[in-house]
Amino acid sequence: MNLWQKETICPLCPYGCGLGIEMRRGFFPKINYTGPLCARGNAIPHILFSPQRLYSPRWQGKEISWENGLFEAKKLIRGFPSERVAIGFDGSLTREERLAVKNLGKALGIKYIAQFELENFTSYLVEGIKIATKKDLAESEVILVIGDLFSRFPLFAHLLLDAKYNKKAKIFGFDYFPNRLSWFADEFFICSPGKEVDLVKKGEEKVFSLFTQAKRGLLILDAPPGKFFDPFGLHLACQIFLSRIQGERYYLPVSQRVGDKGTTASGEVWERLKGGEVSLFLFFGEHLPVGFPFPEYSILFIPWRINFGKEKFLLLPIPHQVEREGKILTFWGETFKNGLLPYSGTKDLREIIGEVAKDLGDQPPAEMRGDFPRMTKKEAERLLTMGEEMEPNGEGFYIFNDEKAIEFGGFFASGDYLKISPEDARSLGVKEGEWLSLDSEKGANPIRLRVKIKEGLSSGWALVSLSHPEVRKLFPVSIDSRIKEIILKPIRVRIWKEE
Ligand code: SF4
Repeated sequence: MNLWQKETICPLCPYGCGLGIEMRRGFFPKINYTGPLCARGNAIPHILFSPQRLYSPRWQGKEISWENGLFEAKKLIRGFPSERVAIGFDGSLTREERLAVKNLGKALGIKYIAQFELENFTSYLVEGIKIATKKDLAESEVILVIGDLFSRFPLFAHLLLDAKYNKKAKIFGFDYFPNRLSWFADEFFICSPGKEVDLVKKGEEKVFSLFTQAKRGLLILDAPPGKFFDPFGLHLACQIFLSRIQGERYYLPVSQRVGDKGTTASGEVWERLKGGEVSLFLFFGEHLPVGFPFPEYSILFIPWRINFGKEKFLLLPIPHQVEREGKILTFWGETFKNGLLPYSGTKDLREIIGEVAKDLGDQPPAEMRGDFPRMTKKEAERLLTMGEEMEPNGEGFYIFNDEKAIEFGGFFASGDYLKISPEDARSLGVKEGEWLSLDSEKGANPIRLRVKIKEGLSSGWALVSLSHPEVRKLFPVSIDSRIKEIILKPIRVRIWKEE
């Protein structure tokens, strides 16, 4: 018997695929397909019904009632002056929820409100740059793709294949190694790591000159944190390159998640937390960078049951982003997403915020509109020339994050692999499937990872997965001094074969 069924949009990446979820008595939830879904989309029933879901408030490691949970939340907020309190949220929130969080901060007089979304480092748009829609993709004569778009967003394939084979568009690719796009791109361009910003800035290579000649062109940038040396610089370089050429030019930075931020840069709040200037941290969402510097007390409005080993955490359960309703930003513009029946025991985020705000502070002010942060072309050019480049010195390996997996749940692969080039496998004396040890320069405990040999990867470079908890710890969170936002940079390690 059907208990409920609903059509919605998958919010797990900005591609925004449509899907239906059906719940039948005595059965695991079933996906009703309206089109293809990637592995993440297909995992939605497992995510929603994961044993890690938080189904009741928890305080100091023990379950408590909602009434007591809200009482403790208000008591904690009242207990600290507003300048000792900071708020964080992530890109999983809908537009309405982000506004509610900001309104709560404003009503309580909390100045430090930041968005912690590592995929959102490319939010800044240079004036005059047009973000592509699906229609622009279909109508472009030339499409230049920077990065390994197909590995991260396999569902993009049909759009690009349609553009190439049915619309006769020319497709060019650009990456550190011949990625999957190279199999059918008209021209594929391999650039040396660390040189990409300069190349795009100068736009001298053949693919750039072909792109320049087209009447209508689209540039897609997929630069996840940890892969490119300077993703922020690359993002600006792409926009400046586009703004310098004539004709219809569109841009699609696919790592972009949401269009608005908090009132403070994430790096600034991070520094205050590390410096002990915050006593209470309120977090709304699902993802936080590993090693987050929690202060003494935190109130986490999250869907997951987590044991941080900290006594002074108050956890309040909210529905998962798949279940929540509201406006979300996809590649194809802002769209309204239906909600699903929320997980038992959770409460709507805006309802909780309303209850917390009711007895505290002033009435929330009128709606604050979120929008893309804009910068002038001049500001962007200035930032770009300040970019610093790192060079490998040949002594060790640089490891890059190979995927997006910075979340509390950790549902996907164990990520115990290390992808290296055939040349490096030979010099290290290892074969596919054998084990290598790795440590960072800080002398952390060695990690053992299984070798995957990847053709085309540059020697001295290795790809790892942030799904692996020990690998995650290797990546320090750094703060980009120019934008004051958090970024994950490639890091240098030692790799060896145990005898
Ligand atoms: S491509 Fe993105 S939106 Fe589509 S199913 Fe996968 S995670 Fe969801």
